[in-house]
Amino acid sequence: MSYTDEVLSMLAEKNADQPEFLQATKEVLESLRTVIDANEAEYRKTALIERIVTPERQILFRVPWVDDKGVAHVNNGYRVQFNSAIGPYKGGLRFHPSVNLSIIKFLGFEQIFKNSLTGLPIGGGKGGCDFDPHGKSDAEVMRFCQSFMTELYKYIGADVDVPAGDIGVGGREIGYLYGQYKRITGLYEGVLTGKGLTYGGSLARTQATGYGLLYLTQEMLKSNGIDLAGKTVVVSGAGNVAIYAIEKAQQLGAKPVTCSDSTGWIYDPEGIDVALLKEVKEVKRARLTEYAAQRSSAQYHEGKGVFSVKCDVALPCATQNELTLEDAKLLVSNGVTAVCEGANMPTTYDATEYLLANKVLFVGGKAANAGGVATSALEMSQNSERLSWTFDEVDNKLHGIMVNIFHNLDDAAKEYGVAGNYVAGANIAGFLKVADAMKAQGLV
Ligand code: NDP
Repeated sequence: MSYTDEVLSMLAEKNADQPEFLQATKEVLESLRTVIDANEAEYRKTALIERIVTPERQILFRVPWVDDKGVAHVNNGYRVQFNSAIGPYKGGLRFHPSVNLSIIKFLGFEQIFKNSLTGLPIGGGKGGCDFDPHGKSDAEVMRFCQSFMTELYKYIGADVDVPAGDIGVGGREIGYLYGQYKRITGLYEGVLTGKGLTYGGSLARTQATGYGLLYLTQEMLKSNGIDLAGKTVVVSGAGNVAIYAIEKAQQLGAKPVTCSDSTGWIYDPEGIDVALLKEVKEVKRARLTEYAAQRSSAQYHEGKGVFSVKCDVALPCATQNELTLEDAKLLVSNGVTAVCEGANMPTTYDATEYLLANKVLFVGGKAANAGGVATSALEMSQNSERLSWTFDEVDNKLHGIMVNIFHNLDDAAKEYGVAGNYVAGANIAGFLKVADAMKAQGLV
């Protein structure tokens, strides 16, 4: 049995109850097959592949908190510190009822390669909790965040592990988490990113993942002789990534016509009104029915459906496994040119295979949404030097990083005989740097 297959079967045996983690490791290891085969003896000797699929540390903890009526609740908290070969652990915190160890491990594993691709010195980690911030008062969210940090603070630090936001963790939650960390430790340090601008946050961090997704999409299309301007774009999600992807797509001359949340979706043939979407989602924290009520050109539909809309470019920006094989078939039959993932692993494994087989230009989340973590690393640099850069300074750096990421993965795909397979290219480029650092640091 090849070394890759041995590790895959070991993973399946030990993690049978972790489907998302198995999906992510399979996707990465399958595309690294040629690299692993070429270095089999060396990697086996140091158990390099077993080590890279095994978290350095997994922290599971209880999060007790009290709601506004005085009722006590308990949630499950997680921090998976996956790989620190190239820098301190870095990766977001997700607060969503679906959070479990499988999801946090899949996200932490992907984060290793994503962070490597940015070219910045950051390792991979991820965390979160099965707490649902929806429908909670500010006071409840604050008490929850304080309880979560009362446990988490023991394991993080500006040079150790630097969490950020993710689904359900935005500026409000980061603020409460930071306040509690500072209160317990007495340290005013860059231990979290995505902070508010008045206390160490970076300009352009809020926009970074969505903007970065469009910078990379534009560069990828350009290198295939296609202009993004004038193209129809479908976007799923209506959160941080989706909103700023829609905003930048419009700035670059494309026309985004959809967005969605967990209850329904909008088709707006005139193009999404970003100011209205921000008002509904960022200010009122309301449902998309509110957008439709205020915009006569918009059609609201219950359930899922953005990928049934005819488009040139599809940008899934909501959550994992939202773009299924059925959606991929609809996209292809409607003539889609490119799919770039704003969310983490939004495309199922079979849907990815189908898109690649049908010559759709496809860039996975670990490259396409790396702008968020890259800008988080820029926030860490600003905190370390006690300086704040201008919006344009950060945005220009982000643009350069995304263009570089595309060319690195494109070059890696060409070098390893899989030209045009950007999924494999991203995995190979991200992996080689981490593998090299792990080899240099010995069996740790
Ligand atoms: P937000 O919480 O801001 O938004 C998530 C959006 O997706 C919301 O519109 C939400 O709807 C919808 N959504 C969430 N879960 C589901 C579900 N199970 N089914 C249908 N819709 C759902 O999160 P972000 O925009 O920050 O993150 C979106 C994705 O991008 C995630 O995969 C995240 O890991 C990834 N990502 C985020 C980065 C960032 O910087 N924020 C960086 C890199 C990746 P509703 O409001 O109804 O819950």
